Amino acid sequence: MKRALHNYLLLAVILYIIAGTASIFSATRWVANQHFETMGETTLNLAVIAANSIKVTDEQLHKMENISFQDLLSNENNQELSRLFKENGLAENVKYAYVVRKLDADQVKYFVDNLDAEFYDMPVGTPLDWVWLMDVIVNEEEQKLVDLDEEYYKDKNRYTHIEENTAILYDQQKSGYFINNDEWGSQISAMVPVYTEEGSYIGLLGVDVYSSDFYKFRAKLILALLLLVLIPTIIMSVIYVFFHLRYKEEMRKVAFLDKMTGLYTRAYYDDYIRRQVKKLRRAEDSITVVMIDVDEFKAYNDYYGHTKGDEVIKAIGDTIRIESGKFDDVCPGRYGGDEFIIFISNLSEEQGDQFCESLRKKVEDLNLLHEIRKDIKLVTVSLGIYTSTKKDFPLEPQLLIEKADKALYIAKRAGRNCMQRY
Ligand code: GH3
Ligand code: MG
Repeated sequence: MKRALHNYLLLAVILYIIAGTASIFSATRWVANQHFETMGETTLNLAVIAANSIKVTDEQLHKMENISFQDLLSNENNQELSRLFKENGLAENVKYAYVVRKLDADQVKYFVDNLDAEFYDMPVGTPLDWVWLMDVIVNEEEQKLVDLDEEYYKDKNRYTHIEENTAILYDQQKSGYFINNDEWGSQISAMVPVYTEEGSYIGLLGVDVYSSDFYKFRAKLILALLLLVLIPTIIMSVIYVFFHLRYKEEMRKVAFLDKMTGLYTRAYYDDYIRRQVKKLRRAEDSITVVMIDVDEFKAYNDYYGHTKGDEVIKAIGDTIRIESGKFDDVCPGRYGGDEFIIFISNLSEEQGDQFCESLRKKVEDLNLLHEIRKDIKLVTVSLGIYTSTKKDFPLEPQLLIEKADKALYIAKRAGRNCMQRY
């Protein structure tokens, strides 16, 4: 595989992650906004219905400003608002419905003190300048929680300090909705301005709807989009890593191949043998080294010329590569000059001897004429073989080679075109 090809894949993965992340952000924002808008509009509609049901006179308003919290809850207008939600099936998801009004500075009765600074999340002394004129806990579960808590009925709890969004709508006498993270929790609040029968501005009627649905929806959406981006990213990354490793291995081989024969050079097989030694762990593991040298090759060169000599080296190299291909764990190399070397893992002595004999025969069968030889008029090779078992694996490849080389020397002395085992 060409380098460029799988690097394009890496580029694609990176671009995909960038584009995917950007899409998650914008798609989530867009879809979540749509969802929020739908919820907001629905809540606003509820607030409008509730606002239309309110019939308060200027006189009643003045009374409502000054009654205690307990009285406020049993107040006729408050009961009316409560009935509206509870009897008309509007209660689903609605947490609170209320009317808030801002007090003038001289009307402020309460300030944040040491005990409730944490509850209001405001500094001690902050004026509680907003008052609840109506207060209905619509949701039954929520109502149960409040019933248990007598603190809720303290008069001071009618007075509070309000979120900026509410204050803005109040000042502008406008309706709107927003996510409200206040001391009462997180909810979608819709606000509508309300007026007395005579037309005086009372304040804002608010309806709070649970926001958990919105957050759950958004979390699911993000998860779905994340998976959409993540799964292809993982797949592409695995493919990239696979090709990258294969490419690296191939590059290693190319760098370590002998140009004339295509067999491994010393730089490669030294490293190979070290790795192989580390891999072989069991008692029956072994490494076999075969050294091969062309017989009377100097004479061949002198007689036929160097070019012809090169062709012989190539032909023998091919034979060695093809014959070595029969094994799984094998590394055929060119040792230098007219010498070759083969490392084979986990080969019995018998198998090793058979392999040498067949290789010797294959070279002889190439039928390359070598006329000036005395006996056999063909190019032949001599072979030395050595098998090292686990108990005496040497740390240095050279020690393995030396023994096979000694066997090769004996083969030469024995008349060439034969093999010897160390
Ligand atoms: P022996 O049977 O004892 O091995 O005799 P030999 O003549 O082959 O002796 P040796 O192996 O020592 O000689 C190797 C010769 O191989 C020396 C050199 O002329 C030749 N040779 C080495 N490398 C190359 C090569 O790449 N191309 C060619 N054409 N000849 C080479
Ligand atoms: Mg030789």
